[in-house]
Amino acid sequence: MAEFFVENTENTPKTGPQIHKKDCRLIVATQPLHYLGSFSHVDAAIEKAKGRYHAISLCPKCLPEKTPTA
Ligand SMILES: [Zn+2]
Repeated sequence: MAEFFVENTENTPKTGPQIHKKDCRLIVATQPLHYLGSFSHVDAAIEKAKGRYHAISLCPKCLPEKTPTA
């Protein structure tokens, strides 16, 4: 299981908030983080995020295996 967070960056209005894994180095400390939950696969985290945000994107650093879905 991995914990996932959403970084609700205000400077990415087109791509939407980015999903990160816990401890990702690209998470900006000054931005608010929203805890998504602990999931066995990123797809589950994406589904959860889709229910909360209109558009989401995935961090290219910690989730490079997935292309953006937004
Ligand atoms: Zn990341």
